[in-house]
Amino acid sequence: MKLKTKLTLGVGLLFILIVLLSVIGSVYINKLKSDTEKILIANYNSLEFSQNMILALDKINTDSAIAIKNFQKNNILQEKNLTEFGEKEATQNLNLHFKSYLKERTYEKEKLIREDLVKIMALNMKGIERKSDIAIITAENATFWIVSLGTICFLIAFVLLFNLPQTIAEPINQLTFSIKQIANKNYNERVHFKGSEEFNDLANSFNIMAEKLQEYESSTLSTQLMDKKRIETLVNNMHDAVIGLDENHFIYMINDEALKITNLRKEEIIGKTAHEVAVNNDLMRELLKNIEHPVNDPIKIVSDHKENYFEQEIVPINIVKTGEKEKKYIGKVILLRNITPFKELDFAKTNFIATISHELKTPIAAIKMGVQLLGNQKFGELNAQQQELLKSINEDGQRLLDITGELLNLSQVETGNIRLQIEGCAPKEIVQTAVKNVEKLAEQKNISITTQYLLEDSDFISADFDKTVWVMNNFLSNAIKHSFQDESIEIVVEKSGASVQFSITDTGSGIDEKYHRQIFERYFQVPGEHQNGTGLGLAISKNFIEKQHGEIGVKSAPNQGSTFYFRLPLV
Ligand code: ADP
Repeated sequence: MKLKTKLTLGVGLLFILIVLLSVIGSVYINKLKSDTEKILIANYNSLEFSQNMILALDKINTDSAIAIKNFQKNNILQEKNLTEFGEKEATQNLNLHFKSYLKERTYEKEKLIREDLVKIMALNMKGIERKSDIAIITAENATFWIVSLGTICFLIAFVLLFNLPQTIAEPINQLTFSIKQIANKNYNERVHFKGSEEFNDLANSFNIMAEKLQEYESSTLSTQLMDKKRIETLVNNMHDAVIGLDENHFIYMINDEALKITNLRKEEIIGKTAHEVAVNNDLMRELLKNIEHPVNDPIKIVSDHKENYFEQEIVPINIVKTGEKEKKYIGKVILLRNITPFKELDFAKTNFIATISHELKTPIAAIKMGVQLLGNQKFGELNAQQQELLKSINEDGQRLLDITGELLNLSQVETGNIRLQIEGCAPKEIVQTAVKNVEKLAEQKNISITTQYLLEDSDFISADFDKTVWVMNNFLSNAIKHSFQDESIEIVVEKSGASVQFSITDTGSGIDEKYHRQIFERYFQVPGEHQNGTGLGLAISKNFIEKQHGEIGVKSAPNQGSTFYFRLPLV
């Protein structure tokens, strides 16, 4: 509980009890006062009137007129002050007896009057006794409440008196002791207060301060410099380029490899922002562009008259400062990983694939030719089994030829040896040629292909006719491969801005959205599919279309078919 709350509660309660005590005290005193007043008015007066009447009666024989007047005056006053039970009857009797005494003054009648007066006096004396009993009870109640409340007040005051000074003084003493310890460079000192929240906060702040002092103490300047040197040497000796930027993009660190590839000198960079350096440096400009719009493609940099390839990674730096809980962003590090050896291996592999596929093409074509000749009746009749065998050799040969063709295409694309013949092509012609190529394949599954042209006959695209037909073929054969028996495929050719879009929609198995990007990568096939293929078709298609300044894409969902499309610019 907070110290402030404790104090407010203790003192507040004490205040309320004191107010209550005063109210109860004054209420009871008022009650006692009114009880006394009642006795005075109701009974003491009646006693006085009765006494006056007895005195008047005593003098009635000597001083008759004044005594009678006195008696009657006091009798009237008594008639107005009837407060006790039976007093009214006694007073009426007194009145009657006095009137008859005035008519005839006898001793018996006087005696009756005296008896009436004694009765009235006795009744009032009893009244006084009863009311005084009530006053005693009231006084006792008052004593009880005042003593009880007084005791509670005393207890609270007692607790506050003995507890408060200790609660406040104890942590202050402890804190004074700990501060002295810190002053004597004992930075291991920590304080732990139990109880109020304010002191807990104070202890936490003190402990953070001690922790920070301990950290500063343990890292002396020389060890700090040593650590800095060690890290700098390590970063400088890395084969990867490292550029450190603070939160305002000031370059605070750059290693030798980064200086080498950016062609910069250290003096040109110190105290400058990356944007200032980028004004005169192409590579820095590209790196900054990549920070805003990250790309996956490696960066090609020519240094030492050699092509080098770097993969860019941007690492945001967030640290938790001593004594704080939240991470704070303090800048980023640009890492340029040198992947030239891998790229060289990749080129070697591509060249190898290109050579192999080129060398294989001729013998495979020869095998196909041989198979066709064998199938010719002129060379003798073949039985059914031999024909079956020949058919499967022919199919396998065709498949091999397709694969080597695809591999050759891919290696051409990768080595940049692709030669495009861009010319004005009629979209209709491209579609018709592609459809013709897959007609037989579609017939095998009884799949119909419909075509819709939503453009003018005069709309020509600038494209390489053969490569575009190849892409279209690939889309169509994939659509047939992934469609079910008796379904249909729809081709739509339409204008889209300054391009023409070719879309091929099938109602087949569809592709999960998470694979949409990957299917355009080399050798990727959707997991769980057992289709014959190489996983190269879409990668080559993407390359062909992008080389022709076009765009390629897919819209698909599992069991809802797929639409593959590409756009090529209008002439
Ligand atoms: P492949 O030679 O395996 O067909 P592609 O690059 O042409 O290679 O296609 C890559 C993968 O994309 C295929 O393995 C297939 O799983 C998926 N795919 C391509 N087209 C379709 C389609 N029309 N319907 C469903 N899946 C498709």
